[in-house]
Amino acid sequence: MSDLQIPTAVDLNNAANTLVNNIVRDDVLNMVPYQSARREQTQGNCWLNANEAGGNNALTIRLSNLNRYPDFQPNELIDAYSKYAKVDNNNILATRGADEGIEVLIRTFCRSNQDSIIICPPTYGMYAISAKTHGINVNTVALNDNLQLDVERLTDFAIGNNQQHSSVKLVFICSPNNPTGDVIERDDIIHVIEMFSSSALVVVDEAYIEFCPQLSVVNLLSRYPNLVILRTLSKAFALAGLRCGFTLANKAIINMMAKIIAPYPISNPVSAIASNALNEQLPVMLQRVEQVVSLRNEMTTFLDQQPWLIQRFESNTNYLLFKVENATSLFTFLSQQGVLIRNQSSQLNLNDCLRVSIGDANELQQFKDAIEQFNQQSQLNQNNQQVGN
Ligand SMILES: *Cc1c(COP(=O)(O)O)cnc(C)c1O
Repeated sequence: MSDLQIPTAVDLNNAANTLVNNIVRDDVLNMVPYQSARREQTQGNCWLNANEAGGNNALTIRLSNLNRYPDFQPNELIDAYSKYAKVDNNNILATRGADEGIEVLIRTFCRSNQDSIIICPPTYGMYAISAKTHGINVNTVALNDNLQLDVERLTDFAIGNNQQHSSVKLVFICSPNNPTGDVIERDDIIHVIEMFSSSALVVVDEAYIEFCPQLSVVNLLSRYPNLVILRTLSKAFALAGLRCGFTLANKAIINMMAKIIAPYPISNPVSAIASNALNEQLPVMLQRVEQVVSLRNEMTTFLDQQPWLIQRFESNTNYLLFKVENATSLFTFLSQQGVLIRNQSSQLNLNDCLRVSIGDANELQQFKDAIEQFNQQSQLNQNNQQVGN
């Protein structure tokens, strides 16, 4: 070893590239990672692209216990979520964001190169990405024209499952759905849960349920053994940077997931901050939700007045999806002004659709100002064209 020349950095990197290309899984080599808002856009001063809350949290924590490993599932945190969600402790698994809940479900229940999941797009991207990273097949049952479940096609899959023709293990339903914003009808969800009752889990992602708590399906947990609910502190609780989410399900499901998840998923500071947010700070969240709803109504009125608006989607969340004449030109103009929103045009059936998060009043004013500028410039361009003609 000692005679060996130390390679140049370039040689080392080339050798590593060759090695990695030779040994990495073929499907990983060609995989496109999740294009999170943070990876896609990093320059800007008005962040309305990731459905985060506008204001920050004022929280203090004790940092004197960091020499110790945390509990696998910190009691104070599980107690706090149990009290908040009115679900028994045994039916809760705390995870690093709801995203980890998705991944652990897939790793726990799906066999690589054999099993599959169902997604109902346009919807949240991580279900498919997580499945693909584990070699799990993704079946697509698109939402219908009303952005509701295609129950008939789902029934075909359920029948196939019962006849052992396919092996769907997880059906992902996002309600309220990201990025469209509306809830999935409760009767349809029940129908799907029942049709897969002996063959698959139905995972209802309630990341935005705090904005319409009366529409949660959490009270179905006591009726259906194959219902799983995903929750997060990233949206209404304004703690996206904390990375804390919850899976709610029958304890048989939770116990299996607990075999797969990392041994210490929730750090001590995360547990302390999250518990505080769920106990003493709970009224702050409720107040934030009220403010978001009122700002969303303002924003709705504003969007409805725009000459280029083609459609504005109903929302039960902290974001609005809207269809415009030319999504690329508006999106590009806004990002040049430092106002970041999300272009959803690449999603199934969402051509020329943009999604804007309901931030705080300041951020929404910046958004509105930038739109006014866009309108003025479009008007100028039009006039110039007329002069040119
Ligand atoms: C934001 C979001 C998540 C992920 O939440 P984290 O807890 O931050 O991982 C999951 N599902 C949907 C629908 C989301 O919008």
